[in-house]
Order: sequence, then structure tokens, then C-alpha cells
Amino acid sequence: MSEQQEQQNKVAMVICAHADDAEFGCSGTIALWVKEGWDVYYVLCTDGSGGGPDEATDVGPEARAKVVETRKVEQRAAGKVLGLKDVVFLGYQDGQLQPTLDLRRDLVRLMRQYKPSRVVCQSPDRSWTPVMRIQGYHPDHLAAGRAALEAIYPASQNPWDFPELMAEGYKPHKVSEIYIFGAPTKNFAVDISSTIEIKIEALRAHVSQLSSHFEQIEGWIRSGAEDAGKRNGFAFAEEFHRTEN
Ligand SMILES: [Zn+2]
Repeated sequence: MSEQQEQQNKVAMVICAHADDAEFGCSGTIALWVKEGWDVYYVLCTDGSGGGPDEATDVGPEARAKVVETRKVEQRAAGKVLGLKDVVFLGYQDGQLQPTLDLRRDLVRLMRQYKPSRVVCQSPDRSWTPVMRIQGYHPDHLAAGRAALEAIYPASQNPWDFPELMAEGYKPHKVSEIYIFGAPTKNFAVDISSTIEIKIEALRAHVSQLSSHFEQIEGWIRSGAEDAGKRNGFAFAEEFHRTEN
């Protein structure tokens, strides 16, 4: 471990669009960091109201409110499995997330409040090779990734961006490491051999989304992590595009 890493604030923030996104993308890594003594916070940008059953006929306000509550409960349960410090729900409309200045400001506020040295986020870019299906990229994921990166640089560290946050008492904060999952190019792997079972258990907490076909999902997760492991010399791995700021 480098001297810079020794000295860094052991706080990480995971920014995603929806409940369960981070469990799929990076929860083996998160479980590992928690074991290593990191405080990890999740930030979910949307309210999850678009995550009801595909065959639903009632998609009105009451049905949506129920889905929102269920997904929050499930995400908190997954957070408990992983040992997260907290989960923050920003409550933007599911399915309609945009990388707006309002979203960027909300993320900057949280970065300045929690002071993460590591941020994990979704990719703002689609990858079409080798053969990526369109289902691999929900537009909310792209928007959350773009908003997260734009909040990190330069806004969070620049006192001149969002002066109203300075007035609220949130001083500039520089994030030093960025881990992007689902990125077109990956340059970094985390050995999750010791935490893959925790990842599976955290995924299992998303009952309303995954329980109907959990065995199949578990199979995909294990084989995906195994393939990533083979590419990097581990039993199981998660891969990222990692960059420093
Ligand atoms: Zn999602």
C-alpha cells in the first residue's frame, strides 16, 4: 500500500441509480473494504418507483409508493449484510434520471459532508464491444455515472462551484480515487474471493426484484466473478476502470 493510501481518509461512497445496482456491480469490493476498516456510504439517486413487476396493471401513486418503500427496506437489508454505515436516498424519479445541476449539487453536498477518498460509480458510457446488449445500460445508470463524475471533478473540490453549499457550511472536498463499474475499459481488479458469499447474500436481500429467479442470478454472478478472476489471477474478482484525481 502506498503512503498516500495509508494516509487517506478511509471513507468510501458508492453512487448508483437504483437499489441493487451496487450489489451487482461492486458489493464484493465493498464487503472487502468494510472488512479492511472502511466506512462505506451508499447514495441511491432514484426513488426506485419504476421497479415493480413487469406484469403490473396498477402503476398509480399508491402502487408506486409501495414499491418505493419495499426497495428502501431491501436496500437497507443489503446494506446490513455488507456492513454499510448508511444508505442515502435522493428520491429522484426512477426511469427519468438526468445528470442535472440539481443532482450534481446534491452529490457535491454529500461528498463535502462525508468526505470520501474513494467514490464508486456507474459508467456514463456504453460499451458495444465485444457484444453488449442494450439491456446492459439503463439510461438512469448512465445519468447517475455522469452526475457522479461531474460532482467529483471539479465541483466538489472547487469552492467557486455551488457557492450556496459553502454558505451552508460545506467546504470543498477532493475525492482521490474513482472506481467505475460497467465501464467500456477496465484497468483494475479487486480480489473478492473472500467476500463473494457476502455479495450473494446482499443480492438475496433484494427479494422483490430477484427472488423469482435467484438461482439463475447466483449462477451468473459466480460465473461472471470467476471469469473476471481468471483474467486477473484470482478465484473471483470484480473489475473497474480506476482512476485517480
Ligand atoms: Zn439499475
